[in-house]
Amino acid sequence: MKRIVISLLAVFAVLSCAEDARIKLCEPYQIPGLASAPEFWTVRPSQVIDLCENVKVGKAEIIARTPAGQPVYAYFYGEFNEPAPQTNWSAGNSSSAISAYLGEQQHPQTIMLLAGVHGGEPEGVAAAMNMIQMLETGKDFRGQVDSTFLDLASNYRLIIIPCANMDGRAICPDHLSGQPFEVFRAVCQGTWLDGSLVGWKDSKRYFPLPVDKVSFPGGYPNSAGYNIQHDVAPGDMKTDEAKAICKLLARWRVDVMLNAHSCESNPHMFAPSTIDTKRHFDRGCRIANKVNSILWDKGLLVNERHLQLRNTETLNLSSIVNWCSGGFGITLECSSSYDNIHNPTIQYSFDQLMAPVFVSMNVIMEDGLESPLAERIKGGL
Ligand SMILES: [Zn+2]
Repeated sequence: MKRIVISLLAVFAVLSCAEDARIKLCEPYQIPGLASAPEFWTVRPSQVIDLCENVKVGKAEIIARTPAGQPVYAYFYGEFNEPAPQTNWSAGNSSSAISAYLGEQQHPQTIMLLAGVHGGEPEGVAAAMNMIQMLETGKDFRGQVDSTFLDLASNYRLIIIPCANMDGRAICPDHLSGQPFEVFRAVCQGTWLDGSLVGWKDSKRYFPLPVDKVSFPGGYPNSAGYNIQHDVAPGDMKTDEAKAICKLLARWRVDVMLNAHSCESNPHMFAPSTIDTKRHFDRGCRIANKVNSILWDKGLLVNERHLQLRNTETLNLSSIVNWCSGGFGITLECSSSYDNIHNPTIQYSFDQLMAPVFVSMNVIMEDGLESPLAERIKGGL
């Protein structure tokens, strides 16, 4: 009952927030009988906003507003005080000295954790919120301490965006644990007016998704129908969310961005896109292999084929990090519930659903202590 009240308050808060906004959020997707998530599973937009009010160790900033008027927050941990680059990475890496972009002032390597780009995939949001809580108080919302994470984090500057797509998150359930494949698809990519599934790949045939032709838009797009993950066309970017993320990447010279998503299969990390530089690709593969191997050892990754990285020429927010900052992005897929496709006998706990994000952050930070994550060299003649 308490959970229902909290959810209703969250929906009310969101709708109130969007009162004088340009676009009204649609009704949230309802799953009758959906079990309550544990208290540490703080993934509602109102909870993201509330946490921001209590930040003391780090710093929280609103970096953008969604089309429905909701704030998008970034949290900063470490010293963020050096002057802005005097050039951008594109010009800087073709100039006589890349210090023109990097600056003269030394600072720790900078890692961005980007979560909640797709609103129906709350696992990254849950992990990011728990990390923020641990950085703030020493313990996460479970009361647990990941001393490896805290020790490693002290060597870095962290930018955490716990929920990039607040509009998508606002209309999706708190979790999809135990839900069948069709519900995952409906919640994440939406349904047409006749109730049929928009589908994963077909959702990308539209940019924006024609929101007047759907009965539910899914958590993929923001309320204007734009899939932030694919809002990467230079000169024609549509969402303030993606623009703000790219600005942060460039401003703070981010070395690595971990882009935390979820899928209906087991958790696994992808190789970076092959359109990135060979250096970044190789380093990203090294990290992905380490992450996948740990997930395998923990019994979370169970499909052997996901241990084998596949090359893709994907273009999305992860693959354009190099253009913004000379760093690279890497995409993680948590599981939204269990392995619907290959091993339906596995049902992950809520701890296990968000665990891959902690594993990935720790692997990236450990790897970066061996040698700089983003080796930047002059690209021009
Ligand atoms: Zn996703």
